[in-house]
Amino acid sequence: MSESSVEQTNESPSNLIDSFNRQIRYLRLSVTDRCNLRCTYCMAEDMTFLPKSKVLSLEEMAMVGKAFVGLGVEKIRLTGGEPLVRNGIVELSRQLAKLDGLRELVMTSNGVLLDKFAHPLRDAGMSRINISIDSLREDRFKTLTRFGHLSDVLRGIDAARDAGFEKIKLNAVILKGTNDDEVIDLTKFALDKGLDISFIEEMPLGEIDGHIREETAVENRSIREQLEAQFTLESSDFSDRASGPSRYLKIAGSDSKVGFISPMSDNFCASCNRVRVTAEGLLLLCLGNEHSLDLREIVRDDPSLLQQAIVDSMQRKPERHYFDPKDITITRHMSATGG
Ligand code: SAM
Ligand code: SF4
Repeated sequence: MSESSVEQTNESPSNLIDSFNRQIRYLRLSVTDRCNLRCTYCMAEDMTFLPKSKVLSLEEMAMVGKAFVGLGVEKIRLTGGEPLVRNGIVELSRQLAKLDGLRELVMTSNGVLLDKFAHPLRDAGMSRINISIDSLREDRFKTLTRFGHLSDVLRGIDAARDAGFEKIKLNAVILKGTNDDEVIDLTKFALDKGLDISFIEEMPLGEIDGHIREETAVENRSIREQLEAQFTLESSDFSDRASGPSRYLKIAGSDSKVGFISPMSDNFCASCNRVRVTAEGLLLLCLGNEHSLDLREIVRDDPSLLQQAIVDSMQRKPERHYFDPKDITITRHMSATGG
């Protein structure tokens, strides 16, 4: 089936409105559930991955992206799993980046392979990149990721800077007793490199075996207090209608911003502007609920029905998530969801 079977309507960006009057402008597209790391808060040590036949082909992913942009989505984030382990990622990026109406094609990566991919991705039209880094200590980084090398990520960050990405942002998940003493160091590192940084609260997605989430939870409020003891944080005029629920403050005297993504302590669902599509083509209407629609079936049977199915699914987007670290009701891991 050809990609052109999906009509790109280019109408004003308001076709995707849910029953709570939220406009959906942002798609997170997971290109694989596989990864070259096993971060303890994200995955269990032993994971079962999707068989190839169940994963959308690159052509099918391009079709899905085109359908969403035709309906008013302005920003697509490629994620995973680790997006850079998917073969053909640069070509997919190139196809998506040239879609009429897309303002930003961005990616979240663990950075391990960025040394190789930063320049090709930039050339393909990707504008921004978020890089996850939870520790600046080699031994701790290895424990957190189960077998990663910090030096690979540091090289990846430098390659991304060298490739000229617009504002690069670091993402860190802080766990009590593991890396909660690195909040200042990670922020100073971001400042030194001229980057932004976001702190993300750990969410109870999927069963893990490395720690008990209830015991490692750190609220972003306490991270902010640590930062305020060291830096002056100013309210930021940073506003991007596609950026949604993240809250940013400017670090005085620098160009860097610090963001707080607080799904556990500060429900932000009222401003949710996003949906996710998993590598197997499941349209997830909410990170913390199971409401979904199988787009793979539609793409493979009759792609001309794709856009209407997406529009109709908006009525099923839940009002909000309810996360409880003691109660894992969402069994899919963040790596399968597309973070
Ligand atoms: N592999 C890439 C990476 O690590 O950046 C992209 C996928 S990863 C699932 C996207 C983001 O989700 C990362 O910043 C990661 O730290 C975060 N993440 C993974 N599991 C999480 C969890 N249970 N709670 C909160 N954030 C999580
Ligand atoms: Fe892989 Fe990203 Fe999950 Fe870490 S957070 S295991 S890098 S998908």
